[in-house]
Amino acid sequence: MAADTIIIGGTVETAEKQHKADVAIEGQKITAVRPGLAKTARNGATIIDARGKYVIPGGVDAHTHLELPFCGTVSSDDWNTGTRAAARGGVTTLIDFAIPYGKDTLEDAFHKWMAKAKPQACIDYSFHLAITNWERQGSELPRLIRLGCPTFKQFMIYESEGWQSDDRAMFLALEQSKKLGAMIMVHAESSRVLDELIARHHTKALMKKYGARLHPMTRPNYIEAEAIQRAVCWAEATGGRLFVVHMSTGQGADIIRDAQRRGVNVLAETCTQYLALDDSVFNGPDGHLFACCPQVKKKADQQRLWEGLRRGDVCSISTDTCSFTRKQKAMWKGDWTKIPMGLPGLETMLPVVYTLGVLKKRLTMKQFVARCCTDPAKIMGLYPKKGTIARGSDADIVVFDPKKRTKVDPARMETNTDWNPYEGWRLAGFAKHTFCRGRRIVADYKFVGSNGYGRFVRRAKYGR
Ligand SMILES: [Zn+2]
Repeated sequence: MAADTIIIGGTVETAEKQHKADVAIEGQKITAVRPGLAKTARNGATIIDARGKYVIPGGVDAHTHLELPFCGTVSSDDWNTGTRAAARGGVTTLIDFAIPYGKDTLEDAFHKWMAKAKPQACIDYSFHLAITNWERQGSELPRLIRLGCPTFKQFMIYESEGWQSDDRAMFLALEQSKKLGAMIMVHAESSRVLDELIARHHTKALMKKYGARLHPMTRPNYIEAEAIQRAVCWAEATGGRLFVVHMSTGQGADIIRDAQRRGVNVLAETCTQYLALDDSVFNGPDGHLFACCPQVKKKADQQRLWEGLRRGDVCSISTDTCSFTRKQKAMWKGDWTKIPMGLPGLETMLPVVYTLGVLKKRLTMKQFVARCCTDPAKIMGLYPKKGTIARGSDADIVVFDPKKRTKVDPARMETNTDWNPYEGWRLAGFAKHTFCRGRRIVADYKFVGSNGYGRFVRRAKYGR
């Protein structure tokens, strides 16, 4: 055997099983997973001692916005800091949303995103393409699928950004996706009623009285639930595959479960922040920092989302990473409609889900690995190249200490923000070592990768 690296003595956790085994890496691939490999090591091979540690597949975050022009600024984590943060958090593949601006075609957006990602990315990546104008972009779907991007996003809100899709555009996209074997992802919020609620509260007196609390006050749960219901209706009518992104409400999870029972081709993800935070975060003096879209909801919603993850009606966890610094967030000046919306998340996804999920017995280890690594890889057409520890798969591997807790401190993180939603939390599950395609990019908790190492991964049509 000519393994370059052997990870020895760890507990290998996959979505299917837990077992004590060594993992051999040769070049970019995993070549063996079984006990006793240490004896076969050639001279010069790197031996990683993983005794007492978990060895899991690298995380797959299928929802990020690096370097995104949004809300009058640009999200502060770019393809350098964002992917360094990912590595340290144990995420080895991310899928970002390429969004066309002005008269851009989907292919223009693809190339623009590639130009940003390619020189900078430290981990592997792919893109979803946002359809912002069905008339102009609808015919491009087959071309993008050939480029390795079979997943498309439509926004039910953001008219002001020029991104919104109406019911007809969604219906047509879902119809087309059925023919092509593509998947339509939706940001589900009910725009007309949301706009009405915002307009109704947009007065000096209310802004003075409630400040950033107007953010959750103008986005009650029915804003998301109605939109999910409607999107599910179009999926049911057309037979197209629908994926609801960043689902934040218990009502949404109920609608998805019922639709799946009827046989509707629909899946839904949730994000770390909806599992860990609730809307009491808006009460403090720094409440405005927590504005994201959709905003975080209530404890009951968290509970329902954890339950959904356990049962599988909520299929995966992502972060919707869209970071902004304190200075950027300060652009709001007391008007909640002007807060740049989004949170950092790549560096803390696995630690938050492991600490609140596994250690609090809401998820088993298998479920944790399934929802953060394996299922997103399957759904997004990356499996078994990504998302598992098996012979022949890419050597995307995370070694972590189940017991070691680290206090979240933005000053010691790779994420480019001077604050963090989980600041002061003591989280377990930070990567001690992260491997991406065989190369160690985190060693003893320190980032040791390099810009431009990450590669674009062509994705097959969806699985699962
Ligand atoms: Zn998003």
